[in-house]
Amino acid sequence: MKGRAGLLAVLILMLALVPMWVFVVNEIRHERALIKEGARNDAMNLATAFEAHVRSAVRLMDIVLLDMRDDVLEFSDFHEHVKEELAAYGNFITQLAVIDADGRLVFSNLAPVSKPLDLSDREHFRAHRDNPTEDRLYISKPVLGRMSQQWTIQFTRPIRKDGQFAGVLVLSVPTSFFADYYQQIDVGPNGSIVLLGTDRSLRAIASGTPLSGRYGRFKVPESRPYFAPDAPERGYYEGVNSIDGEYRLGAYRRLTENGLVVLVLLSPKDFMATFHERRKLLLASAGVISVLLFAVAVLIFVLSRRYFLNTARLHQAHQQLSQLVNTDVLTGVSSRRSFLGSLEAELARARRHGECVSVLMLDIDHFKRVNDGYGHPIGDVVLKQFAATCSRLLRAHDVMGRLGGEEFAITLPHTDTEGARCVAEKIRLAVAQTPIETAAGEIAITVSIGLANTQHEPDDVARLIARADGALYEAKQSGRNRVCCAREGGTECAAAEIG
Ligand code: GH3
Ligand code: MG
Ligand code: MG
Repeated sequence: MKGRAGLLAVLILMLALVPMWVFVVNEIRHERALIKEGARNDAMNLATAFEAHVRSAVRLMDIVLLDMRDDVLEFSDFHEHVKEELAAYGNFITQLAVIDADGRLVFSNLAPVSKPLDLSDREHFRAHRDNPTEDRLYISKPVLGRMSQQWTIQFTRPIRKDGQFAGVLVLSVPTSFFADYYQQIDVGPNGSIVLLGTDRSLRAIASGTPLSGRYGRFKVPESRPYFAPDAPERGYYEGVNSIDGEYRLGAYRRLTENGLVVLVLLSPKDFMATFHERRKLLLASAGVISVLLFAVAVLIFVLSRRYFLNTARLHQAHQQLSQLVNTDVLTGVSSRRSFLGSLEAELARARRHGECVSVLMLDIDHFKRVNDGYGHPIGDVVLKQFAATCSRLLRAHDVMGRLGGEEFAITLPHTDTEGARCVAEKIRLAVAQTPIETAAGEIAITVSIGLANTQHEPDDVARLIARADGALYEAKQSGRNRVCCAREGGTECAAAEIG
């Protein structure tokens, strides 16, 4: 009972819990994927805007450089001219300087050059000196200016005189020129916008991770996909940040002609924050529902256990009751009601199959004398033993019933007159030859048997019983301890061999 109730409770619990948790887990997975996809798109959009800004800034620097380069060679009071020109371009330029062909600083708008400073080791000088025929814009990594004492990026163009390399024109722009602009763009507290050189050094960064002191020395690991020479112009990047070791997701765009890469990195700490809140809420709700379902399952278990227990008891009581109704308590053979029911079923079955059913009616001879002589309890013992003797001689599908008092009947399915007479004789002889052991000593009894069947005429229960009863009456009349058989137009009795 416990097992079935438990199984039912577990089944109901599983049927409710499993789909709910499958839904919750799927929902969480789906939402995580959606948010990640959204973050990638955001990063790419920002990178696109960022690239446009870098392009226009670089173009502006180059315009200034080209404009001023022509003037270097023309103007005698170059210092005054630069002052005027730079004022026109705005104040984002920290310094405009001229380096001669030997790498000496010969002009700076910041201060008059009294003693030429040797800048021949500077990367932006060497880049032009070593490629004297190439006239290109060079963008250096940030350097700490010897004159300005600021971290600046150098935009440079070579100066050529009479077809010869004559020096380098340098435009110094503070890294904050880019960084301050990016700082205004919201990439979350842990995101960053980075301007990188394809030489892997940082040009500018706007992020929650401070790095200003390391400009120039810091190198981004070579393994990054945007450094590969054959990398596409734009793409996504996911990985652990080399500055703070935190995982980030981002998008990059390459400005190949300027040797620059723009990179927008977003942190899951920021863009997953609302997702984590929602996931917590979803899991908590599912947890509460699970606990409630569990409580319902326990209730179902208790109620169904009680129900199954009651049903089992009812079934048992029903079995006992039908046992009582269908069995004769004293002798253990079928009760009258049960016997007549089974005879009716047997007659119907025999009719369908065209078979013969025989019925024996048995009545103990002079039974009243047993009762009178030995008392009613001994009479009961005799009745019990008589039924046992008869039952022993029957086949499994024969049915014996007690019709009342000391009258019994036996249904013999699939048995014709001869067969039935044979069985009846066997019973009669066995009863006559087996004295019954009782507390009052051995008691010998005999039985008279009337036989009727459906061999010649199909019959119903009542008529068949009546005909067998008639044959029994004949047996009693013609001397008892014998078998009489109801025949068409009369009764035929066999003489008793042992009486
Ligand atoms: P006959 O040969 O004509 O059948 O004579 P009989 O004495 O058997 O006559 P009858 O059939 O009239 O008597 C049946 C007796 O069986 C009457 C009754 O006291 C007795 N009897 C009926 N039911 C029981 C029972 O359950 N227990 C006992 N001990 N006796 C019963
Ligand atoms: Mg009798
Ligand atoms: Mg009788």
